Amino acid sequence: MDEGARLAEQDVRELIVVGGGPAGYTAALYAARADLEPLVVEGFQWGGQLMITSDVENYPGYPDGVMGPEMMSDFRRQAERFGAEFVTDDVTRVDFSGPVHRVWVGDEELRARAVVVATGASARWLGIESEERHKGRGVSACATCDAAFFRGRDVYVVGGGDSAFEEALFLTKFASRVHIVHRRDEFRASRIMVDRAEANDKLDFVLNAVVEEILGEERVEGLRLRSTVTGETWEVPADGLFVAIGHDPNTSLFAGQLEMDAAGYLVTKPGTTETNVPGVFAAGDVQDHTYRQAITAAGSGCMAALDAERYLASLEGHPGTALTAPRPEAAEV
Ligand code: NAP
Repeated sequence: MDEGARLAEQDVRELIVVGGGPAGYTAALYAARADLEPLVVEGFQWGGQLMITSDVENYPGYPDGVMGPEMMSDFRRQAERFGAEFVTDDVTRVDFSGPVHRVWVGDEELRARAVVVATGASARWLGIESEERHKGRGVSACATCDAAFFRGRDVYVVGGGDSAFEEALFLTKFASRVHIVHRRDEFRASRIMVDRAEANDKLDFVLNAVVEEILGEERVEGLRLRSTVTGETWEVPADGLFVAIGHDPNTSLFAGQLEMDAAGYLVTKPGTTETNVPGVFAAGDVQDHTYRQAITAAGSGCMAALDAERYLASLEGHPGTALTAPRPEAAEV
């Protein structure tokens, strides 16, 4: 018996979801309601980027806003209600080369006929030595987590997107002064965020500049900034630096197995969540560098579950799923 057939006879699930953010939990919800009994390997730090977000004001259905962690906990409970199971740990290795897909969590090997990859993206750092040295000691990528340490202090935020503005506005609740440093003189952030920042008298802008060095030995004492126009450098006093310059997809696990673009995002067939490997689907920020919203991640998680259902139903000898025999009492929305 060849390796593929041997594995197929062992404990093989219908679906494993890798990742516990809006995309992963939505895929799990849909798959669970379709009786696929999904196993979600949700990561040691489940919940994804929304766990370090404060108010979410733009997720439809929450007219008064919701805290990011509360929303993720709701997503998770909703999937659990229909039978999704969870492993609160990180996937350490995958093998998508055979007819049965294999996923490892440490020494434990899990197998499934279909996999939804929803590993999301992680905060990008500046990549300078002094940043590494000061991480957790004045340098952070999470104002929601660390802003309270900067009560009455003078802090800088790097970036010109919505994240930088969100971090900066949140920091004004604690810090005495917040400066946004941006490498251009135009912002990527939405108009409403820029308007709020401009109206906040604790906030100001340092445009056409980048952070070249973080100064201080035991703690952050200042920054050396460099003009992106003239190349001139200058030093400013600072107690902290928040880096909010975007994200990179979490795809290193899949190198050599799933097709990626130049920036490392998983490539999916247009209009679907199919990767280049049959039975492996990708949803959420791991495959989306354009929209990257909780609502779009959730939407693509739904697509991935439906694509996985169709794939499973198409396998020879497969009994079919709820997609091929919908439950009459189920209210689909
Ligand atoms: P982003 O939109 O990609 O913005 C990243 C910013 O960092 C850009 O302004 C970029 O400058 C700058 N940057 C990148 N690399 C840099 C470097 N090495 N040094 C200095 N600056 C650098 O990322 P984001 O702000 O994290 O937002 C990601 C997505 O999430 C967006 O779709 C955003 O709308 C969404 N989001 C929404 C909310 C909300 O609605 N409440 C909150 C947060 C995020 P350039 O502009 O010059 O490229």
